Amino acid sequence: MPTAPRICPLCEATCGLVLTLDGSRVTGARGDRDDVFSRGFVCPKGAAFPQIDGDPDRLRTPLVRENGRLREANWDEAFDTIAARLRPLIEGYGPDALGIVLGNPNVHTMAGALYPPLLLRATGTSRLFTASTLDQMPKHVAVGLLFGDPFAIPVPDLDRTDHLLVIGANPLDSNGSLCTAPDFPGRLAALRRRGGTLTVVDPRRTRTARLADRHLAPRPGTDALLLAALVHTLFAEDLADPGPLADRTEGVDQVRDAVREFTPEAVAPACELDPGAIRAVARELAAAPTAAVYGRMGSSTVAHGTLANWLVDVLNVLTGNLDRPGGVLFPRSATAPAPRPAGPGRGFLLGRRHSRVSGHPEVKGEFPLAALAEEIDTPGTDAPGEGRVRALITIAANPVLSAPDGRRLDAALDTLDLMVCVDPYLNETTRHADVLLPPPPPSQSAHFDFALNGFAVRDQARYTPAAVPLEPGRMDECEIHARLVLAASGMHGAPPSAVDDLAIDAALAKAVTQPHSPAYGADPKEFAAGLTGESGAERRLDLMLRLGPYRLTLDELKARPHGIDLGPLKPRLDEVLKTPSGRIELLPAPLAADLPRLRAALTAVPEPGALQLVGRRHLRSNNSWLHNTPALNGGSNRCTLQVHPDDAARLRLADGAPARVRGAGGELTADVEVTDAVRAGVVSLPHGWGHDRPGTRLTVAAARPGVNVNQLLDGSLLDPLSGTAVLNGFPVEVAPLD
Ligand code: SF4
Repeated sequence: MPTAPRICPLCEATCGLVLTLDGSRVTGARGDRDDVFSRGFVCPKGAAFPQIDGDPDRLRTPLVRENGRLREANWDEAFDTIAARLRPLIEGYGPDALGIVLGNPNVHTMAGALYPPLLLRATGTSRLFTASTLDQMPKHVAVGLLFGDPFAIPVPDLDRTDHLLVIGANPLDSNGSLCTAPDFPGRLAALRRRGGTLTVVDPRRTRTARLADRHLAPRPGTDALLLAALVHTLFAEDLADPGPLADRTEGVDQVRDAVREFTPEAVAPACELDPGAIRAVARELAAAPTAAVYGRMGSSTVAHGTLANWLVDVLNVLTGNLDRPGGVLFPRSATAPAPRPAGPGRGFLLGRRHSRVSGHPEVKGEFPLAALAEEIDTPGTDAPGEGRVRALITIAANPVLSAPDGRRLDAALDTLDLMVCVDPYLNETTRHADVLLPPPPPSQSAHFDFALNGFAVRDQARYTPAAVPLEPGRMDECEIHARLVLAASGMHGAPPSAVDDLAIDAALAKAVTQPHSPAYGADPKEFAAGLTGESGAERRLDLMLRLGPYRLTLDELKARPHGIDLGPLKPRLDEVLKTPSGRIELLPAPLAADLPRLRAALTAVPEPGALQLVGRRHLRSNNSWLHNTPALNGGSNRCTLQVHPDDAARLRLADGAPARVRGAGGELTADVEVTDAVRAGVVSLPHGWGHDRPGTRLTVAAARPGVNVNQLLDGSLLDPLSGTAVLNGFPVEVAPLD
């Protein structure tokens, strides 16, 4: 049987797969042993690639709404409709009448990386909402303020560290996030084999926690308090030692003052942890030859998410582990711009604009996805430029399930003047579309990880062309995006390559003026003429590789189908820092201003018997995307409410029986799973479920729909600095259904 390599697009680990092909059908998938990064690793999701790729529910042609019903249409008709209806709305009401929602799968496609920035620029809208404000925005804000660049995210040097402290992450099930590492389980096992230590902080005894030398299970939402106590202990016991970072860091003494009252004893009642255990973690961290502190969802999607993410890197700095092998390091992606000379930069600004209804500050050009519904359904003045979202473009996004209070958003989407969706499925969100544009299955698209290589634990570059040709009637995903840009910008009818040519021209016009760029002083036209590639997207990839720090080319990547290894991560702090001071700014003003809120949390101890809800990941799941795959929806991947045995006995909840869960945004019914894997006072429901709405085409998911945990939220609980929804650690009431 013929085979083809394909980088797996199903989670952030980016494993290399070898697909087995029968004509244009994918019949098998296994780990690619020759892949320079993943070395043959594959998980159940990757193994299910053929089922995911060949899902009969995938849409094959565009859908256009006519007389209230969606019908199949051809591509020209679909784009004609968009051009005819979208431009008048933008011209009549201003660019902010258009909202754009980007879902998390965009980081797993080339099109999702290359074209949405052009769509934003072409339409001029400032109404951008992405999955980041349901996930990782606290990390962007924290590193933006610390290092001056919201994308300068240091990742743990997994393969060399002596001590890994994991907070609110479960990489054995997620396979890692903001830390691209194929075979995370194997890398953690190797850490243990070489005598290293793993500490896990999580209110659940996850698969990762079970592997740990030490597991702390604090009350959810108190990670920032715990981290502040760890920082306090480093200072109190004279263990803080930034080493060579001391000369490149300002604000160390101010941090010492800022955490003075967060003693282990002071945070212990709120965290419900033993102060001795907190001190022990701080001492082990300081004593380890090298150590890395890594936090993710559980410490981000909480009320103090930005403070927690800031404190993670404060610990990495104070223990001297930032930017050194075995600590946390900044990856160097092959398509990142070549580094500029070291020196002060412009820094990172928050709140340059505010949202229309609740006045949420803009963060990284985005508004909170939790505020999308109110931006649509809150009446405006009808005046041009008043800013009510009247038209929406969603790309690979399902916010009806992924954002708080899906019912309100569901109703709001019905009131839009126009909704355009790029999505392979008719799902809970796209069922509201006026025009639905389905990209082809992943086997029919080329792949390069523009975003995820920037978070990888080893520098490398891999490109896989489409494994099979496009089926008749399908349109290449990059062409769909390019045509959408044209239709939305008033250039409808121009060739899609015009979009890529404009992007190349703009990038080169800048690069030729930058002394640190490989294109400095070149003739832009000549440079562009030298680019290779069979499509606009390939030419843009070739350009980014040539302008990148390794000066690779697309031809070089194509000649090495299992990738090019660029070596372990290397110290490069000077290249990264873009703060106004040119140094690490350890206590930025916006974070200092948020500390009184954390101090107030010291005494915010819940009533006896109160319950808090946390989410959870499953190896066979990824947000809302994969529930329509028979091999992944079932077995232990179930949407159950996990309850500790003590709470179950107290509340008379029986294992397997339905329970009513009530939160500020609504209530739902879920089957109880009694387990001591959650600590007492905590219940857990996974997210991404709730596939029971009419009008979708998700046969497998609808047969086993689960419940939408985000319906328990009303959208009002946010981390104020990042606009990120509080999806973990919020209060709920639970009772037997009858
Ligand atoms: S770990 Fe992630 S990238 Fe690797 S095979 Fe599984 S889903 Fe794919």
